[in-house]
Amino acid sequence: LDLRRETEVLIIGGGVTGAGVAYNIARRGKEVTLVERSEICGGTSGSTAGWLWIQDRRPDHYAELAKLSLQRYETLEQELGKDFEFRRSGALQLLRTKEELDWANKIVEEQHKIGIAVRVLSPAEVHDLEPAITPHIMGALYGESDGHVNPFLLVNGYIEAAKRYGAEINTGTQVLGFEMDGSRIKSVITNRGTINAGLVICAAGIFSTSIADMAGVKAPIHPERGFCVVTEKMPRIITRILLGARQTVSGNLVFGFNKELVTGIDTRMTAAGLRLACSEALRDFPGLGEVNIIRSFAGVRVMPDDKFPILGPVPHVKNFWFALTHSAFTNSCAIGPLMAELVCGERNVKSIPMYAYDRFTQ
Ligand SMILES: Cc1cc2nc3c(=O)[nH]c(=O)nc-3n(C[C@H](O)[C@H](O)[C@H](O)COP(=O)(O)OP(=O)(O)OC[C@H]3O[C@@H](n4cnc5c(N)ncnc54)[C@H](O)[C@@H]3O)c2cc1C
Repeated sequence: LDLRRETEVLIIGGGVTGAGVAYNIARRGKEVTLVERSEICGGTSGSTAGWLWIQDRRPDHYAELAKLSLQRYETLEQELGKDFEFRRSGALQLLRTKEELDWANKIVEEQHKIGIAVRVLSPAEVHDLEPAITPHIMGALYGESDGHVNPFLLVNGYIEAAKRYGAEINTGTQVLGFEMDGSRIKSVITNRGTINAGLVICAAGIFSTSIADMAGVKAPIHPERGFCVVTEKMPRIITRILLGARQTVSGNLVFGFNKELVTGIDTRMTAAGLRLACSEALRDFPGLGEVNIIRSFAGVRVMPDDKFPILGPVPHVKNFWFALTHSAFTNSCAIGPLMAELVCGERNVKSIPMYAYDRFTQ
């Protein structure tokens, strides 16, 4: 199949960020072309836990971003015409020490000021909500607003809706370089030909470092590895998310919560990682017993150097923008519309200085 040779907006990356941004820009009437070197969800979005986690997001601006995203998730299935198994289930993180309890009480105070419903539960209250969880705790931080999704269905929902608005989605299309015209990108060179683009948005997650290099731009991000383990389907043992585990709509338990600083993009699962995840799951769910594990996966998160999203223009190259964030599933319903507002001139990046690239250069 032939590629479009000219486009208003070219988006690099078919993960949740690229797909969400493509959908939001296309529905505003711009001509969007997305290129993805492998398949949709072929990067980190295909190795994720699928939580929409807002309960302890800090500081205020970042908590507000996540809160806004969760509010928009409420209507997104209808908007996209896609059931992506969104559940606003609520979430718990277990507190095991006095320090953790003090920390949780402080979070409750801070989040209440901006309208995020969190509270500290006693062990008995935890037991009433989720009887399968261990009683050997001091309590739990409980957020009512957190939720979860099926990541593959969500991203494909964005992609299908973007196509209905005229977006061209090209999988198997790898960006190899850029043809420059002074300080602008004239065209994007791919393995399937060259595309002239008015604006290039790099939403390639952790792979953005090498793409930014091609444009002579530094991506202020670093990799953080994580992994998950998936069990066979089983009767429901938990309805909420527990920091470290969620049970899918189909009944599989997806568990494992870790963040390893790594130097490269190595997505291999290790025996040590598997052991750690399993021992934590058995600690939190003492009755887990003889359930079978059907698969495990590791992925590498894109982590902006100050942990906050990087959205919009970069210095030096006029039409090269970033759309980078960690927790991209949690943030997706805020980041997609924000990027579209920037692209369509409805918002200036100066209105969100905490997410502008400039903060790294000043
Ligand atoms: C174990 C684990 C659990 C996680 N759990 C959660 C969670 O519960 N909730 C949450 O919100 N977040 C979670 N995250 C983080 C979340 O998965 C990421 O923030 C998200 O997937 C990033 O999406 P993205 O679209 O920015 O990047 P990606 O999904 O990595 O997409 C980038 C795409 O760009 C493509 N690409 C790369 N180079 C090129 C090129 N040269 N040309 C064309 N295309 C290219 C890649 O193939 C890839 O598909 C987790 C991450 C891990 C690893």
